[in-house]
Amino acid sequence: MTSLPVSSRQNLLDVPPDEARRLLEAFLAARGEPTYRAGQVVDWLWRRPAADFAAMTNLSADLRGALAEAFDLPRLTRLTEQRSADGTRKFLFQLADGQAIETVAIPDGDRMTLCISSQAGCALKCAFCATGAMGFQRNLSAFEIAGQVRELLLLPDAPIKATNIVFMGMGEPLMNWPAVSTALTLLNHPEALGIGARHITISTVGVLPGIVALAARPEQFRLAISIHAPSDALRGTLMPVNVKYPLAEVIDAARRFDRRVTFEYTMLGGVNDRPEHADALAALARDCQAFVNLIPLHPGGTMGFTPTPPEGMQAFRRRVAAGGVEVAIRRSRGLDIAAACGQLRVERIGRRPPRPPQQHGHVDVA
Ligand code: SAH
Repeated sequence: MTSLPVSSRQNLLDVPPDEARRLLEAFLAARGEPTYRAGQVVDWLWRRPAADFAAMTNLSADLRGALAEAFDLPRLTRLTEQRSADGTRKFLFQLADGQAIETVAIPDGDRMTLCISSQAGCALKCAFCATGAMGFQRNLSAFEIAGQVRELLLLPDAPIKATNIVFMGMGEPLMNWPAVSTALTLLNHPEALGIGARHITISTVGVLPGIVALAARPEQFRLAISIHAPSDALRGTLMPVNVKYPLAEVIDAARRFDRRVTFEYTMLGGVNDRPEHADALAALARDCQAFVNLIPLHPGGTMGFTPTPPEGMQAFRRRVAAGGVEVAIRRSRGLDIAAACGQLRVERIGRRPPRPPQQHGHVDVA
């Protein structure tokens, strides 16, 4: 028997579980097999992930072989891993076409937050972001997004089981909505990864059509918006996307979002950390009842920016709070492992044009 070329096999991991079940039922019916076996296979896709069809031990060897001929169960290749002294682990995965993406696992008490990527590279070129500096490569598929979570469940020695997901790895999730939308289903669906919608956060620069699409989902997924500056003039210098999606429209979208949003505000020394910035930020946050997260800049690979010192961050936080806004300073995690957005890939592969490798990094947990 010759095996079919990869492209003609249906990828069972790139569709919602209901659709996978339908495909499997049709396949089983055509073979004269009982269709309840579809449920058994669906169980192996995400709930207790199988490394391959051969590992689906409650099915006959014959059926497993036939499934492998008809369907694809692709994997992401784990290229490297870095471990931080604080328990944070950062993984670099290679995709079928050679692209590399990052996933960070951040333990915090009972929680295990995974910071996942939605694109290889990013087109947005935010001035302080390592991913932006490497440019856009391509969108990830739904399977490549949710597959990051699946791969960590398949780690041979000690599986990592995510309790929380943040789309704060590489890329802009709302510029890849169709795949991200399916990935949200895979993350949340009880027959897939089963992570509660309120434990899944999409972080965006403020892509307006994407915010509308996210709001239209019935599940209570959380929205975080990267604000970083309280005026168009300043925001435009940090985030070129502000021309397309200006602050007033982003704030308006946040106000219309039917759940409470979080503002992300990366603090850049001498740039966006003055008292008047705190006052203006508080006014914006009040306007849409947002929660504000102040993020310490990680200096690695941040192109000339310097972090606001801790006491400056505290003063800024107090001033935002005095404006009647709930505000917190995020803890930096993975400081010793280049865990900030894009930094591991930059170390391994280099951005274009190449620059010296970064020594440090961080991740901020929503
Ligand atoms: N495109 C999405 C997700 C990207 S990363 C977005 O922009 O929201 C998640 C957050 O990390 C964003 O707020 C981003 O601006 C921020 N970030 C990127 N590099 C950083 C760095 N070196 N230090 C601090 N925050 C950073």
